[in-house]
Parts: sequence; C-alpha cells; structure tokens
Amino acid sequence: MDGTLRGLAALVRERQPAVVLTGAGISTESGIPDFRSAAGLWVQYDPMEFATIQAFRRDPVKVWEFYSLRFSVLTAAEPNAGHRALAELERRGLVQAIVTQNIDGLHQRAGSEDVVEVHGSIRTASCLECGERESLEEIVASLRETAAPACPRCGAILKPDVVMFGELLPPAAVDRAVELAREAGVLLAVGSSLEVYPVAGLLEETVSAGGAVAIVNRGATPFDGLASVRIDGQAGETLAALAAELD
Ligand code: NAD
Repeated sequence: MDGTLRGLAALVRERQPAVVLTGAGISTESGIPDFRSAAGLWVQYDPMEFATIQAFRRDPVKVWEFYSLRFSVLTAAEPNAGHRALAELERRGLVQAIVTQNIDGLHQRAGSEDVVEVHGSIRTASCLECGERESLEEIVASLRETAAPACPRCGAILKPDVVMFGELLPPAAVDRAVELAREAGVLLAVGSSLEVYPVAGLLEETVSAGGAVAIVNRGATPFDGLASVRIDGQAGETLAALAAELD
C-alpha cells in the first residue's frame, strides 16, 4: 500500500474523475468537532440522549438545547483549505462529485457543485406533524427568541433535517451515492472513521466494481486494508497539496 502524496496524485490522475467521500474530519479544521476523536462530541454528550429520533420525540426542547450549541458553531464556521481544494478539483474535472456525511454545508459554500448529502443538512428544519419546512435563517432567528423553534403553521417543535440515529437515510441520496461509488475509477475517502453504515459500505461497492480506493484520515479505519493509497494526515493540508501536485 502506498502512503505518499505522489502515489495519491498518480492514482487520481490515472483513474479520474474521482468520487470523494467526506466525513466530519474534513471540517474539524473549520472548528467543527467530529464525533469520535478524543475531542469529539460524543465524549461530552451521550448520543442516545441527544441524537436519536426517539429522544427528539420524547423531549424535542432538550434536543434543541443541544442543537443550538452545535448551530452556533456550525453557522459561524467557514470552509477550509480541504473544502476549497475539492471545489477546485471539481472545476478542473478531476473530481466528479462529493458524497458527504456532513451536515454543515461547507462543501457547497466552498464552491463544490455536485454534493450528495447522505445524512441531511442543517439548511432546513421540518415539522413532523404538518410537513412545513423552515430555512436556516428562520431557525437561527427563532433560536434568538426561544429554546426550540416552533412550526409557524401548527405550533409543533420543528426537527432539523439531519438524519438522527434511528431514522432512515434519504433514499434518493443513498441511491445516487451507491451509483457514484459503483462507477468510480477511484473513491477517495477523507476525514471519516468509516464506522457508520451504509456509507462505509460504499468503499466495498467501488472495489467490487473494479475501482480503487484511497483514504486520507488521521488515524486508522477498518477499510485501510482495502486502500491502494492511505495517507495518515490532516485533510486540509493533504488535499491542498494534492491539488498542487495535480496542477
Ligand atoms: P467520525 O467522527 O466518526 O470520524 C472522523 C474521522 O476524521 C476520525 O477518524 C478522525 O481521526 C479524523 N479526523 C479528524 N480531524 C481530521 C483532520 N483534520 N484531517 C484528517 N482526519 C481527521 O466522523 P464520520 O466518519 O463523519 O462519522 C459520521 C457522522 O458524523 C455522520 O453522521 C456525520 O453526520 C456526523 N458529523 C458531522 C459533522 C459536520 O457536519 N461537520 C460534525 C460531526 C459529526
């Protein structure tokens, strides 16, 4: 297995355009904590209390108290060098699309056009009772006045349109992600522990269909043995260097 930037650049050049799969690790350099590292969110908060659909149905106000903390970090964050490098590689035709587990919208804000959000996004929140949908701006405005935003139509507490534990992933996004993974000459996974299914299974889809897999992540993943290239490094620095190497 290759562990060099030159090896990664050669693989992308040979098998372009790449499909990129990103996780929380690409956004830590923007100041958003990931879930599973030592400084991650689940060290401080019990996911069963704050991030399941059952917890939301039981006590939506308590879940919003947790989410408002995250919202203030998420809405203040700016794209970093890693997001910008991927947007540039897409403009140059070397990246086809990004499949992201992130809900922060930073890829789109960096200029990436084809972004498949498999875990939803904070851009909207919806009413589970009547289906009304509110924008992020409206939610942020109501969080200044109240602990939990209420539906303007029926008064129920809105739910952020992020996939909570216990909920199904949006089927259209998952279908597209699987299709992209199967057709990819190379799938590049960045900043993900690759422990959450079905997303982690995308790497196997690529390899079974004859494609190659590359991983850029700080720390080991269960799929390292499958990767042709594996770089243990910072996402921002590595992707910026990759874009420069491919220039
Ligand atoms: P994860 O926390 O399980 O794994 C993140 C991985 O990235 C870890 O292996 C960590 O060592 C690595 N990492 C952290 N910073 C890095 C950096 N700068 N460069 C390279 N690697 C780095 O995250 P995941 O695999 O995305 O887990 C999936 C869940 O996390 C998803 O459900 C996603 O919605 C959620 N999540 C999203 C955000 C966000 O939108 N920014 C933030 C936290 C969690």
